[in-house]
Amino acid sequence: MTALLQVKNLGKSFGGVKAVDGITFELAAGELLALIGPNGAGKSTTFNMVNGQLRADQGSIRFDGHELVGQKPRSIWRLGVGRTFQIAETFASLTVAENVQMALLSHDARLYSMWRRAADHKRDKALALLEQVGMKAQADRPCSELAYGDVKRVELAIAMANDPKLLLMDEPTAGMAPKERNSLMALTKELVIQRGLAVLFTEHSMDVVFAYADRMIVLARGRLIAQGKPLEIRDDPKVQAVYFGT
Ligand code: ADP
Ligand code: MG
Repeated sequence: MTALLQVKNLGKSFGGVKAVDGITFELAAGELLALIGPNGAGKSTTFNMVNGQLRADQGSIRFDGHELVGQKPRSIWRLGVGRTFQIAETFASLTVAENVQMALLSHDARLYSMWRRAADHKRDKALALLEQVGMKAQADRPCSELAYGDVKRVELAIAMANDPKLLLMDEPTAGMAPKERNSLMALTKELVIQRGLAVLFTEHSMDVVFAYADRMIVLARGRLIAQGKPLEIRDDPKVQAVYFGT
């Protein structure tokens, strides 16, 4: 069976720096894959090539029968690659003009009521998504009142809105307390198991990786230095040296 995502010899340089240097890996449906490595290893650059924000300068990214290299972020999103955005960044995914248009819309009574009617059609779908992440009961509260862990759940619901086959999460648990981390990762794992979602995520906490990832890949200075099940890799001397600093 071909994997949902096949990354081959992927590379990207910034000036003279090879941020990602010819990495190859696969990700199957129903799999939670952790991408780890020290700061500057190339994790975010890898993510941004998969979601189309950065164009790779070598290699290929096959997703569900399509080549993603050279496609625009919006087309990649339509093909079923979702990513979590921080709530504050949600509007950052709109263009400059669209942001101003949204403001105009909210200040024009007639247009605002049209928007509300259109949005009302999506309320049931929104509530269903919120139910999946355990946030239905808080549907009508302002986001600013929510606990940080709950905001993360809402971000997950937003990312699930296009029913992605692959979800990219760059440091989803950053800034969370251990209890909140576990609850977010348990929820993510549930989506992976129940919906056959594939998830690629970066993570600093080894506890989270060992508890939740099915497999992990380790980057160091743009190169993939190890991949496999967390327990298989943990004792690899290469990983110990660059990652754990021993
Ligand atoms: P990570 O997410 O693993 O911390 P990054 O992918 O952000 O690593 O960065 C990998 C390398 O590429 C680093 O040396 C970083 O300084 C460099 N880099 C990342 N983005 C840019 C950019 N837009 N311009 C120049 N250098 C960059
Ligand atoms: Mg990063």
